[in-house]
Amino acid sequence: MKRLTVVTLAVVLCFVGLTTLAYASDPVHWGYEGDTGPDAWGDLSSDFATCATGVEQSPIDITADAVVNPADIQFNYQPSNLTVVNNGHTIQANYDEGSSITVDGVTYNLLQLHFHERSEHTLSGQPGAMEAHFVHQNDNGELAVVGAMINVGAENQAVAPVWANMPAEAGDPIAVEGATVNADEILPADRTYYRYNGSLTTPPCSEGVTWLVMTTPIEISQDQLAAFQQIHSDNFRPVQPLNDRQFLLSADVMSAPAEMAGEMEAEMSETTPEAVTDAPATLPQSGGVTSPDLTSLLFGGAGLVILIGSLAMRRRTVTNKNN
Ligand SMILES: [Zn+2]
Repeated sequence: MKRLTVVTLAVVLCFVGLTTLAYASDPVHWGYEGDTGPDAWGDLSSDFATCATGVEQSPIDITADAVVNPADIQFNYQPSNLTVVNNGHTIQANYDEGSSITVDGVTYNLLQLHFHERSEHTLSGQPGAMEAHFVHQNDNGELAVVGAMINVGAENQAVAPVWANMPAEAGDPIAVEGATVNADEILPADRTYYRYNGSLTTPPCSEGVTWLVMTTPIEISQDQLAAFQQIHSDNFRPVQPLNDRQFLLSADVMSAPAEMAGEMEAEMSETTPEAVTDAPATLPQSGGVTSPDLTSLLFGGAGLVILIGSLAMRRRTVTNKNN
């Protein structure tokens, strides 16, 4: 229970929806349609206000010109005993301790994985049949979510243990004796990804979430899709405005020219008070950046020092929609 601090519970349970504990602390009912659907989340509770007022919300449409980040996430995934829960919003597999990713030197522990039908992110406006989310948290309580689009195709053996044990009704987590799940096998072999800063895609829609969306989809069979739909369908939040955000990448060292470090240091020499004020208190404040958006601050503050050290960070603006 060490990592399941109160903060962890609050964030994770809010992210994944209603579980037994969440019912106790968050009685507000929300869903995916009608009066409690995504358009209404911000009005359901003052705690959910960010769903309506946030400017760095998830999911988003990943446009055709989005910058791809080379695979520099370090995955340290182990198989986990299967504990599966239908929390009323999704099917989720809680993950044993001991699996993590490392992004720009920061390690995030894998807490759980769950699924949306259809996908939440879209690629050039096109949704996938489903999307898998791998939810991680670092020691500061910050979240990083790896997303993988799911298309209909070949049967997926890696998710089969989860699919074979999906509770039809919402309830408490069920430890499935003798069954394991391996997140490493669920992810695509190609770990290239898009990176941006966003939010929880469920109430309370808290921001400051590092999103790492795989460029390569995985597949499930039509039968597997149908099986999931029998339990949850349309449990996705529509895409949200990109606003001033940028897709960010950590270029590989080979292609990063030495002058890049100079550029980044120059940017760090100025601090944007607005961005600092807006940054969540938990964010490391190791450096300011000239760009006035929080995305720059997030990735600047969290990763610039490390990235500059490795001469590996490049930033590019792909879209600049201002609302
Ligand atoms: Zn999700």
